[in-house]
Amino acid sequence: RAKEEGRGRYTIYGEEMDEKARLRQQMEVELREALSDELLQVHYQPRFAADGRLESVEALARWNHPRRGMVSPAVFIPLAEESGLIHEIGEFIMREACRTAARRWPELILSVNVSPVELSRPDFLERTCAIMAEAGIDPHKVEIEITEGALLQDDEKTQSLLRTLRELGFTLALDDFGTGYSSLSYLHLYPVDRIKIDRSFVSNLGNAEVEKLVRAMIQLAQALDLEVTAEGVETADQHAALVSAGCNQLQGYFLGRPGEPEDIDALLKTRRKTSAAA
Ligand code: C2E
Ligand code: MG
Ligand code: MG
Ligand code: MG
Repeated sequence: RAKEEGRGRYTIYGEEMDEKARLRQQMEVELREALSDELLQVHYQPRFAADGRLESVEALARWNHPRRGMVSPAVFIPLAEESGLIHEIGEFIMREACRTAARRWPELILSVNVSPVELSRPDFLERTCAIMAEAGIDPHKVEIEITEGALLQDDEKTQSLLRTLRELGFTLALDDFGTGYSSLSYLHLYPVDRIKIDRSFVSNLGNAEVEKLVRAMIQLAQALDLEVTAEGVETADQHAALVSAGCNQLQGYFLGRPGEPEDIDALLKTRRKTSAAA
C-alpha cells in the first residue's frame, strides 16, 4: 500500500513538474515572439539627489503580454538568462533606453541593468559601444547596474571588462547591495562608483538595528569614495532617515514610480520651469 501511495504521489509530483516545465517552455516561446512583436517596453523610474534635484532615470524592462498582462522582469529576466535570449533582450532595452534618453533627457544620467550573463559575452564591450554611438549618447551619461553575482565571478576577465567600461566613462553601480554573499570587506576591491542599498533594508529602517546597519553601509561607502543610492524609498520617514544618514541619491514610490517616458518629461518640465523662475 505504502509503495502504491508513494508511487501515486510521485506521479502527481511528476505531472506538476511537467506542467511547470511546459509553462516555462511556452513562456520562452512567447518571450521570443514578444521581442520581435515589440511587446517589450522600457519604463523609467526617476532618482533624486538628497536636495531633491532630479538626477537620473533607471530603465526597467516591461513585458506587455496579450493574455497574462504585465509580466514582471523578476519573472522573465531569469527565463531569458536561462534560454540565452538575455543577449537580444538586453541589447533591445539598452538601445531603446539610450535612444530615448539621448533624445529627451540630455541633462539626465541613464541607468541600465545588465545581467551577469550579458557581461560574460566576449563581445559585450564592442556591442555596448556600438549602441552608444548609434544612439548618440556619451558613456559619461550612462550608468550600468550590476549585481554582486557578477562580481563574485571575480575572474580577471570580468574585472578588466569593468575597468575598461569605467575608463570609457560609464559609471558602475552595485545593485541590491547587502543581499549578496560577498563580504563588506571586499567592497574596496570592486571597480564600482556607487552602491544601491537594497529595498529590504530601506523598508525595515524602523528597526533600530537595521538603521544602524544602513548608517554603517553609508559610512563605509563614504570612506571608500563611493556614492550611495537608496532604493525602494516609500515613506517620508524613510526619506528623512536616509538623507540624514548621508545618502546621496534616493529612488522609490515615495518619489516616483516607474512610468512611461512622458512621466519623466513632465517631471523635467516642472524642473525647467522652476529653475527658469529662480
Ligand atoms: P532592480 O534593478 O533592483 O530594480 C528595482 C525594482 O524595485 C524595480 O522592480 C522597481 O520597479 C521596484 N521599485 C522601485 N521603487 C520601489 C518602491 O518604492 N517599492 C517597491 N516595492 N518596489 C520598488 P522591477 O521593475 O519589477 O524590476 C525587478 C528587477 O528586474 C530589477 O531590480 C532588475 O534586477 C531586473 N530588471 C529590470 N529590468 C531589467 C533589464 O532591462 N535588464 C536586466 N538584466 N534586469 C532587469
Ligand atoms: Mg537596478
Ligand atoms: Mg536593486
Ligand atoms: Mg532589487
